[in-house]
Amino acid sequence: MKLWVNGGLRDAETALVSVLDHGLTVGDGVFETVKAERGETFALTLHLERLARSARGLGLPEPDLDEVRRACAAVLAANPVELGRLRITYTGGLSPLGSERGDAGTSLVVAVGATSRRADTTAVITVPWTRNERGALTGLKTTSYAENVVALARAREQGATEALFANTVGQLCEGTGSNVFVVIDGTLHTPPVSSGCLAGITRALAVQWTGARETELPLDVLETADEIFLTSTLRDVQGVHRVDGRPLTAEPGPVTAKAMRIFDERAAMDRDPRLG
Ligand code: PMP
Repeated sequence: MKLWVNGGLRDAETALVSVLDHGLTVGDGVFETVKAERGETFALTLHLERLARSARGLGLPEPDLDEVRRACAAVLAANPVELGRLRITYTGGLSPLGSERGDAGTSLVVAVGATSRRADTTAVITVPWTRNERGALTGLKTTSYAENVVALARAREQGATEALFANTVGQLCEGTGSNVFVVIDGTLHTPPVSSGCLAGITRALAVQWTGARETELPLDVLETADEIFLTSTLRDVQGVHRVDGRPLTAEPGPVTAKAMRIFDERAAMDRDPRLG
């Protein structure tokens, strides 16, 4: 496999980023996961805009988005995959051993791996740890994902594939790698970005395309919701058939199925260059 590392393609086995890279030592970095089908990226411009926003939020130097675009194209050309996940990682570069950021530049790594289509529905759990809606990093897609890794491992232990968080005031927030939508009395809602969730690109498209309302919701809405679905780059829209052991419909419910359909059609047809 060929990766892009700091200016060029390298073999994955020999590609190097320093062991003193601030991304490794303190998680001082940002990332994006972009979907690619037969060499075509989806919503790359929106992902690059978010990468730059996240970098700005962390105080990293502005990423060279032309290089990131070239890197994505080069990595996809060198590693043909039917359905792939491109991973763009941009970190704080070589640094002294403390928390202070050094001035030795940044690191850019772009890799791609094959992935498979998501199942139509999945099981989720809630976890007792909270998302901080008022933190310095809230809303930034930083590489500090260890809490998500722990939550996801707990989900796996319980036969689920995603874990959902509330925020510090008990409102429904998001999953470890997804945003969440719920149907209450036939109306579709999703938590607002002020809940502390990531401004998911799929979430924004789903709100635009389905007219879902952005509503502050208590976590226990999951106990009574008629339907629940998740959105993310690699899932698009994925129904939830079980939450904390409570069964919902085995097949995606009507609102979820409609969102899936709209999403498939719009995503395939849309000519908006920001989606290319
Ligand atoms: N929340 C978190 C914490 C995520 O990591 C992701 C995946 N990027 C999402 C939500 C969904 O965002 P997107 O639709 O942009 O993939």
